[in-house]
Amino acid sequence: MLNGKTALVTGSTSGIGLGIAKALARQGANIVLNGFGEVEAARAEVAALGVKVSYHGADMSKPAEIEDMMQAAAAEFGRVDVLVNNAGIQHVANVEDFPADRWDAIIAINLSSAFHTTRLALPAMRAANWGRIINVASVHGLVASAQKSAYVAAKHGVVGLTKVTALETATTGVTCNAICPGWVLTPLVQKQVDAKAAALGLSNEEATKLLLGEKEPSMQFTTPEELGELAVFFCSPAANNVRGVAWNMDGGWAAQ
Ligand code: NAD
Repeated sequence: MLNGKTALVTGSTSGIGLGIAKALARQGANIVLNGFGEVEAARAEVAALGVKVSYHGADMSKPAEIEDMMQAAAAEFGRVDVLVNNAGIQHVANVEDFPADRWDAIIAINLSSAFHTTRLALPAMRAANWGRIINVASVHGLVASAQKSAYVAAKHGVVGLTKVTALETATTGVTCNAICPGWVLTPLVQKQVDAKAAALGLSNEEATKLLLGEKEPSMQFTTPEELGELAVFFCSPAANNVRGVAWNMDGGWAAQ
């Protein structure tokens, strides 16, 4: 379905971003990876699916590096057809204790980076009259949790940016939608399980159950593979007129 197209996925060396990159690669898209850490392992996993893979190490908190990444992707592949804004970080503290530098980093990486990639990707998508922008927001783009002020503000912002982008492209072949996962067992969430286990003297299994039980009625994690399939749907012809939605895949979290 995506043969000959190029997908750029920010924060795709791990977790949800890597799951989405692999799902798009299975549909034939060439992939531009981004993120830190296990770069070569991620590259090998995607390349094994038989598509072209490139990597750019832009730091999503730095607009100049984002510009360089978008230019490099266009130079290598012609244009970015599918843009997945996924890179994200978390910090947990009450508002009055929240370090100002963590606030700035979360807003920059989780929200502003999506503005920069979107503004840079849109001209070529408009010229081709086809494009897909998929913003990985969160159930925290729809509802709040205590101690996550920056994250919840950024993710609500991403849902807002998604709606505006969808409106501005509504008469074109470009669509913009958001994915809103509940808990997904990635390094970002394992850190929160570890913190709970340490604070309450619990085993990993007990802390995991407690974390799920607080928010997620299904008591199950959503997987990167399931989120990848939702991204594939947004890229399909059946989704041509799906515009500006914030689609939660959250085990019932936001239904409560
Ligand atoms: P993760 O920690 O496994 O992956 C995050 C990715 O972002 C990694 O590739 C990392 O290298 C990259 N990254 C971090 N800072 C970066 C920066 N400054 N520049 C470029 N890349 C950077 O986390 P994840 O759980 O897969 O999270 C992916 C997205 O999904 C995030 O936006 C997160 O908010 C969102 N999300 C996660 C969950 C969950 O339960 N895990 C739930 C809802 C939403």
